[in-house]
Amino acid sequence: MSAPLRLMAVHAHPDDESSKGAATMARYVAEGVDVLVCTLTGGERGSILNPKMDRPDILENMGEVRRLEMERAREILGVEQRFMGFVDSGLPDDESEPLPEGCFALQPLEVAAAPLVAAVREFRPHVILTYDDDGGYPHPDHIMTNRVSVEAFEAAGDPDRYPEAGDPWQPLKLYYQMGFTKERFEALHEAMDARGMGSPYADWISRWEDRPQKWPVTTRVPCGDYFEVRDRALLAHATQVDPDGFWFVCPRELQEEIWPTEDYHLARSLVDTELPEDDLFAGIHADEVSRTCH
Ligand SMILES: [Zn+2]
Repeated sequence: MSAPLRLMAVHAHPDDESSKGAATMARYVAEGVDVLVCTLTGGERGSILNPKMDRPDILENMGEVRRLEMERAREILGVEQRFMGFVDSGLPDDESEPLPEGCFALQPLEVAAAPLVAAVREFRPHVILTYDDDGGYPHPDHIMTNRVSVEAFEAAGDPDRYPEAGDPWQPLKLYYQMGFTKERFEALHEAMDARGMGSPYADWISRWEDRPQKWPVTTRVPCGDYFEVRDRALLAHATQVDPDGFWFVCPRELQEEIWPTEDYHLARSLVDTELPEDDLFAGIHADEVSRTCH
């Protein structure tokens, strides 16, 4: 294919792009795909999750600190990245707590989706990655990220919708990120246990409900060679990622051996494709790509 393929990943906060689908993006970048990360909020209300960075001067400037961390991660992943300009809603301690006024999750859908529709029409992705409708985890911004991504996928190709947001463009496939499956963590847990490394995930797995996955994995993208890039991008988000914490308890070599893919659910497709897939662009043919180039 001569015209480049284009992949858009939609995320709620800076750091989400490095913990969800980062190795996939690094692999496609290496293969010549244009990749754009759209970050809906600035992560202003994130807490400091790395004790080594827990300093008042950092907490006072979270918006700016996270912007710089994002820029560093962007360079490491080799992607383009844009902020969509919304304000982080924060993760409430309990559900009864009201969300802060003006935050992303409280925006009407049409307002929240408009910048993303404009980005889709300008970047013209063939494939979009987002979270499932539970947000992957119950942060209000993650749930809203799913809603605006589905809205953008459905509306961007329709000239009657968001008419002020540019010329219509219809993406071809929409995927949900499926990295946090019980299946994957059980496999890693068993491998670590078998090697006498202890079982850091045991307690977590035991609390995981035993029910079929709402969104089954349809697509496993081999990207173990890029886990190293993923880990460097994660560490660039120094306020959010503890180098001695959760993300790094399972040795990278073991992950490459036991689970060398990042996994997705194909939520919408306008092309014919055979499941299971191992490529996000499966079913997208050269004529569709050349039709859509400048
Ligand atoms: Zn997030």
